[in-house]
Amino acid sequence: MADNTIPQVELNNGTTIPQLGFGVFLVDPPEAERVVTDALEIGYRHIDTAAIYRNEEGVGRALASSGVPREELFVTTKLWNTDQGSDTALPAFETSLDKLGLDYVDLYLVHWPAPQRDTYVESYRVLEQILAAGRARAIGVSNFLVPHLERLLAETSIVPAVNQIELHPYYQRRDLVEFGRSRGIHTEAWGPLSQGKSPLLQDPMVTAIADAHGKSPAQVVLRWHLEEGTIIFPKTTSRERAAENFDLFDFELSASEHAAITALDRDERLGGDPLEVN
Ligand code: NAD
Repeated sequence: MADNTIPQVELNNGTTIPQLGFGVFLVDPPEAERVVTDALEIGYRHIDTAAIYRNEEGVGRALASSGVPREELFVTTKLWNTDQGSDTALPAFETSLDKLGLDYVDLYLVHWPAPQRDTYVESYRVLEQILAAGRARAIGVSNFLVPHLERLLAETSIVPAVNQIELHPYYQRRDLVEFGRSRGIHTEAWGPLSQGKSPLLQDPMVTAIADAHGKSPAQVVLRWHLEEGTIIFPKTTSRERAAENFDLFDFELSASEHAAITALDRDERLGGDPLEVN
């Protein structure tokens, strides 16, 4: 399957990113190479990893052996909290590049604001230097709330290209998404399937819509995200599910189906609290 079915989103500096990618949180390091190889064979070209996932080496091996030209790949990784700081961020970035076997990444993110450390501004300034040096094509943040974004916008010069946040039908965070939109910061959703933790995929509304289209509940939820304009990278270690999660472009939700999923919002955060993860 070719990648040309996947919509490209233009970020605020002109870089384009495939709207659908593949995430590797909690993919065991020894399994990462096989899982990412499967994903690339299916047609994914956008891979989302992080230093803290400890699988950058496996991801890098899969990228290298895939034969996919570097310019067709979009690779994101992230600066871990304990590496934040004006002296530590650059060496951490270089370690990630080495492990990935790349000479640039497409997107580099500050993983959490970690407000008790109070180092996200100085860390982001290092990302600005990385961008200027051409070693990342775009930079951004993750898990930032409006006050963190406001401070960053006030104290640094480059508007983050993205804010990667927990977001799914049960946790839609309209104010934060809208704030980003108003400033040119594109939202990426982590946990788009609510990490398989909540009953979202068994929700009767989701299963009824899935049945109506002959699609799976996961496909319906992922389709809803795409129609919202959000960038997603669902994770699975199963090749079959990876193919299922890529097969989202032969159906659409009707306006009333889309609205019915939007109406499921219940402000239900499943992951860490950005004010507390440090
Ligand atoms: P997800 O919502 O993608 O859920 C993954 C889980 O959903 C799988 O483990 C599996 O249990 C289930 N699943 C996947 N495909 C399915 C299918 N077709 N049918 C039924 N169940 C299915 O959660 P995630 O992995 O946490 O999020 C996606 C990616 O976001 C991560 O891999 C990672 O790259 C990124 N992420 C970022 C942060 C951050 O702090 N920035 C945090 C968590 C995740």
